[in-house]
Amino acid sequence: MSAENRSMPNAALYVLFRAIEEVMGEKGFRAMLNASGLQAYISNPPPNNLDHDITFEDYARLQQAVEDFYGPRGARAILAQIGRVTFRYTLEQQPAILGLAGLALKLLPEQAKVKMILTRMQNASNERVNMTAHMDEDDEAWYFVVTACPCVFRERSSSNPACYTTAGTIQEALRWATGNHYMVREIKCMNLGEGECCFRIDKTPQS
Ligand SMILES: [Zn+2]
Repeated sequence: MSAENRSMPNAALYVLFRAIEEVMGEKGFRAMLNASGLQAYISNPPPNNLDHDITFEDYARLQQAVEDFYGPRGARAILAQIGRVTFRYTLEQQPAILGLAGLALKLLPEQAKVKMILTRMQNASNERVNMTAHMDEDDEAWYFVVTACPCVFRERSSSNPACYTTAGTIQEALRWATGNHYMVREIKCMNLGEGECCFRIDKTPQS
């Protein structure tokens, strides 16, 4: 494959492991490691640190295994749930990744909170996770745009976007920051041959 197989921090895979284990149980998690060819990690899991010993391809293969197991339709909800748990675990285990430690959000107006969180996630994505990202906005929505994403290493039969975990992670981050549920939808995906993965976030929370 011609896509650049970039490195990622070990903690990204560590947290994805924990999230899949929480959502699918220990047996299901082991089955996913076997199916993805990552069974070496069963006895030797990635360390929870920021060294770059893993790659986009490792990360993508595990997500692919989950999608293959549930089928494209069923996997959507599961991968989004894994994304939400991923945010929670990252916050607990590696707050440095997100740069959210000690963040004073309480007194900010809602939209400022949203912008602050998305900006932090963009910075985290660029500086820690090695997934190049930027933001954009119009009157109705924010756009979280990723231009280097592990999804290019997923071989999928589905014509839907691939990055439900990222969408779930963004959604949970906004819920954590505001207490509200924001609609997050991937409207462009590199897995489908587009030049970027673009997540549209409604500016108005759902009631
Ligand atoms: Zn993607």
